[in-house]
Amino acid sequence: MNKQVVTRFAPSPTGFLHIGGARTALFNWLFARHHGGKFLLRIEDTDRVRSTEEAVAAIFDGLEWLGLGGDEPAVFQFERSARHAEVANQMLASGHAYRCYATPEELAELREQQRAARQPMRYDGRWRDRDPSEAPEGAPFVIRLKAPREGESVIEDAVQGRVVVQNAELDDMILLRSDGTPTYMLAVVVDDHDMGVTHVIRGDDHLNNAFRQLGIINAMGWEEPVYAHIPLIHGSDGAKLSKRHGALGVDAYRDEMGMLPEAVLNYLLRLGWGHGDEEIISIARAIELFDISGVGRSPSRFDIKKLENLNGHYLREADDARLAALVAPRVAARLGKSLPADAETLLTQAMASLKLRAKTLNEIAEGAEFLFKNCPLDFDEKASALLDDSARALLASTADALSAVPFWTVEAMEDVIRRVAEDAGLGLGKVAQPLRAALTGRTVSPGIFDVLFLLGKEESLGRLTDVRHASVG
Ligand code: GLU
Repeated sequence: MNKQVVTRFAPSPTGFLHIGGARTALFNWLFARHHGGKFLLRIEDTDRVRSTEEAVAAIFDGLEWLGLGGDEPAVFQFERSARHAEVANQMLASGHAYRCYATPEELAELREQQRAARQPMRYDGRWRDRDPSEAPEGAPFVIRLKAPREGESVIEDAVQGRVVVQNAELDDMILLRSDGTPTYMLAVVVDDHDMGVTHVIRGDDHLNNAFRQLGIINAMGWEEPVYAHIPLIHGSDGAKLSKRHGALGVDAYRDEMGMLPEAVLNYLLRLGWGHGDEEIISIARAIELFDISGVGRSPSRFDIKKLENLNGHYLREADDARLAALVAPRVAARLGKSLPADAETLLTQAMASLKLRAKTLNEIAEGAEFLFKNCPLDFDEKASALLDDSARALLASTADALSAVPFWTVEAMEDVIRRVAEDAGLGLGKVAQPLRAALTGRTVSPGIFDVLFLLGKEESLGRLTDVRHASVG
């Protein structure tokens, strides 16, 4: 019987959950789901100076928003230090590790010599074969791995293919520091083993580490996981992804940019993984299709435009009441006031036309502002310019025609406005434009019949009266 697949996402909580980390989490999550396995979380918080509780919270929050929670409570690496030390001592006892008493001064001198000789900087194994009886009394020591010196190490990486490193290039790394704390390399291996991780899917910046980690795995006689080192994400200009390219925390996509999680997931999925030309892939379909074989070897380029287009697609698919709830606080923030109690109902009604061309929740909120604005409206420059004397005369007859409408429906609006245009011998646009300006204070809005319908009779006529009486512009 095949072993159950276990993957993990192991972020270091030194900052927010960035977009690259989210993609790594997604690939691990999908791989586990596809194979009916488990997806685990491990917070790598052994760097006590740089790890913060806020970062841990931001990571959980971002993962939850994306729906990428772990199948078991997260493991906190620092809490497991005693176990890591235990494994180091086990290796010591079995002869796979040794105590090294080299002082910091000695090591600095060694590094200096290597630098001068233009040699790679490596620990030279000076305590590797010394008899423990030579150890200086009570002096501090570290525990180092007794790594093989001959031959080569090979990783059959599921993304990178066969990667070979000469063992002579790997020095005897430290497992346990002189204060008894484990090194990161040791902690990762012990945790992956104890968590039963079968597949290590992570950024290819960890490929070199994999060879060091393999040394510990072999020394312990543990089973080697399958490695899949995925290429990093680059900016649209090919340079390493930075803030400038949109390498922000996942929360920025949610809060500042107004993206939906399903759009971000779909985008991240396509960033480095493909299935033919399919662009729109739901999470259910992704679970069905995802495998490591679809992950490419070259770095993918982050393209915010593509993400926005996908977001536009998912906005149009999304339930209108859900969008109304997401948009309402944004509208309130934009207008700097709280919205009436029935705001979400009105937004839900308006959503079909509001979301028609929008790419983000912010764009929807901007389009929805007119529904809740205080009167008299503020008119932007273009809108004021439209409201000249002839436009006002036209608006007066439009208002008269509207006040006679018995049933305020979208169809009735269309009939009335078309009739007003015909009577004036004008095209529909010539009537709709000043009307839009008068009702919304802007020159861009949802369809004019929708605007009228959503505002309702009283509010529409009120705004038209305002324009007639006020001096606009
Ligand atoms: N903590 C590492 C990081 O955030 C990941 C280590 C791993 O996946 O093995 O880059």
